[in-house]
Amino acid sequence: MAVSARQVTKIYGKGNTRVKALRSVDVDIQRGRLTAIMGPSGSGKSTLMHCLAALEPVTSGHIWIGRSQLNRLNERQLTRLRRDKIGFIFQAYNLIPTLTAAENITLPMDIARRQSDPQWLKQVVETIGLADRLRHRPSQLSGGQQQRVAVARALTSRPDIIFGDEPTGNLDSNTGKRILEFLRHSVDALGQTILLVTHDPLAASYADRVLFMADGSIVDEAIYPTADTIAQCMLHLSTGGHYPTAPPERTTGWDS
Ligand code: ADP
Repeated sequence: MAVSARQVTKIYGKGNTRVKALRSVDVDIQRGRLTAIMGPSGSGKSTLMHCLAALEPVTSGHIWIGRSQLNRLNERQLTRLRRDKIGFIFQAYNLIPTLTAAENITLPMDIARRQSDPQWLKQVVETIGLADRLRHRPSQLSGGQQQRVAVARALTSRPDIIFGDEPTGNLDSNTGKRILEFLRHSVDALGQTILLVTHDPLAASYADRVLFMADGSIVDEAIYPTADTIAQCMLHLSTGGHYPTAPPERTTGWDS
């Protein structure tokens, strides 16, 4: 497993403002797979992802990234874990405005004083269609191009796992498709592990497995789903658990 959670609960606030964002969540994210988390707004998707990515402490329960149990690590060890093992692709691209695209892409590796593999870097940059934009600063790039820089930055170090929060949310459908295809390719060809949060059934259909959340719990999952199956599952959730017609067909269990 790349990441595991056991009995994870997350509570925000106190008294009147208390919100139970995660309720005893158990989940295993497999290595070398693309997993998506879906669910209505407020169901706890981002909270779960932030907890699994060691960005947010849990209220109770345990999370492991690889062999590291997060609540046994101190702040310094957590920082090192995030830096060395995890790639992030967020909707706010978090690029450094004073650095060029190329410098932004290699920044995590530079900070970690690691050499990037030039061949892989070239492949990432070419696939993502950024070869002629490497000397531009973020302000000279479109939103789609900035997001492509963020994706390249996450992939360059070949982290143990990449977490993406709506990574194609701000992009036009062609650019979004290209990025999803590249993420898919990095899983199939290189065994990259990716966990995405998305509200888009088409984006989720690139996943090997889709987890559905409602009210702080994982309530359903689909293996190798199509966009239609996913849309039906989402409808099922939004109608309070009643399928409008027959339940969608889906494969249960892994084929390997
Ligand atoms: P989703 O990503 O599915 O939209 P979130 O994980 O963002 O859901 O939120 C789950 C619940 O936790 C919501 O009720 C939300 O209002 C609440 N929540 C999220 N972040 C915070 C926070 N920092 N402080 C207080 N409540 C929060």
